[in-house]
Amino acid sequence: MRVLKFGGTSVANHQCVLSVADIAENELSLGQVALVLSAPAKITNHLVAMIEKTVAGQDIVSNMSDATQIFADLLSGLKAQQPRFDYERLKGLVERELASLKQTLHGISLLKQCPDSINASLICRGEKLSIAIMESVLQARGHKVTVIDPVKNLLAHGHCLESTVDIHESSKRIAALNIPADHIILMAGFTAGDENGELVVLGRNGSDYSAAVLAACLRADCCEIWTDVDGVYTCDPRAVKDARLLKSLSYQEAMELSYFGAKVLHPRTIAPIAQFQIPCLIKNTANPNVPGTFIGDALIDDGQKDQDMPIKGITNLDHMAMFNVSGPGMKGMVGMAARIFSVMSRKGISVVLITQSSSEYSISFCVPQKEWVKAHNALTEEFYLELKDGVLDPIDAIDNLAIISVVGDGMRTQPGTSARFFSALTRANINIVAIAQGSSERSISAVIENNAATTAVRLCHQMLFNTAQVVEVFVVGVGE
Ligand code: ASP
Ligand code: MG
Repeated sequence: MRVLKFGGTSVANHQCVLSVADIAENELSLGQVALVLSAPAKITNHLVAMIEKTVAGQDIVSNMSDATQIFADLLSGLKAQQPRFDYERLKGLVERELASLKQTLHGISLLKQCPDSINASLICRGEKLSIAIMESVLQARGHKVTVIDPVKNLLAHGHCLESTVDIHESSKRIAALNIPADHIILMAGFTAGDENGELVVLGRNGSDYSAAVLAACLRADCCEIWTDVDGVYTCDPRAVKDARLLKSLSYQEAMELSYFGAKVLHPRTIAPIAQFQIPCLIKNTANPNVPGTFIGDALIDDGQKDQDMPIKGITNLDHMAMFNVSGPGMKGMVGMAARIFSVMSRKGISVVLITQSSSEYSISFCVPQKEWVKAHNALTEEFYLELKDGVLDPIDAIDNLAIISVVGDGMRTQPGTSARFFSALTRANINIVAIAQGSSERSISAVIENNAATTAVRLCHQMLFNTAQVVEVFVVGVGE
């Protein structure tokens, strides 16, 4: 069994949808195939914008007409190019979906607010339509198809806009469906159901996570994430033009890279595939012959692993703020760290990086910049007495920061990586605000000024990967 996930750009128009069907058909020779689809590109953004604008009493005409046009073009393209495509049925379905969307938005405009559960049920409509369209395309090509309803079969817990799937229970539900081996399986990404059977979503860009979860539930041989780039690069190829494509990554490297900002990997995707040891491939829908990036522990063909690369990537997380809790009372006081991080967790603020000086005089940590006010208020409330009595110094907060991280399993055996990393930053005259290295030695991170992040990534890439450097040569002389 292989699970193939296609992102929004891979189902953006009728040619893309037909390529997805071709890719799925090609893979049938390797065994049964399950497809997880995102909404066509831009659709989820339009849905989110329409909800926000409706709540704010603004006009949604342009979003609605753009979304309607995307589906109209998709369907008319398929009608022209895919023999036996059931155009009339799909056209009716899209029209009904859009009409129900308009009706719900009308309700929201009267209420002037949108409850989270309604929000969840609206923003995943694109995925539902992608599946209906793909089902028709595959049926038109003579395939038998089973559609898994993620609301009934993926049990999820947590907030309805950012739920987490219970793989154990979902595996049982999916096994009970007894899907015949000669069927192509389809499932909408981004979507699941809570313990009451109500629809929930898995967070923006959550379709990768859906695919990872389905691969885990089906104990698939491989989870393929098809996207619009050739694989995972040593750093963002849009920022650094000689970024290198990686042949392989371990689960831990993939986890660190995604956590620290590599855009092709969604951080939550790696956990289920690592837990169930499912090999994963990142592939390009527009360029299917490129081997892509392999994520897993199993050795693939000799030479396929980047064993000679101790460092796999450099990433940056922008728009961070750093808090520093310090004071004479910190030394030896048991439970300070626990209090800091439990108050952050109670407020739902994710802490991205932590450092503590060994003198125990201070603890510093980064949170996303948008959480600045919330985090600051939470800390001043929690330590009200300590601050009043001078046991703690006033809480120090720095904003406009970025975290730049170097990731690679091989760093633990290769001394000198951090020296080269820091000397690259020094050469660029970039001030380092804080440093963190996990004891796994798999990543080193430096906190720097936000607007230096792109330069830092570029220079570190040059220094650590020995890529082309611009050398200016002047020849001075008086001639013969
Ligand atoms: N369509 C959803 C989004 O754009 C989920 C996804 O594409 O992964 O966030
Ligand atoms: Mg997407």
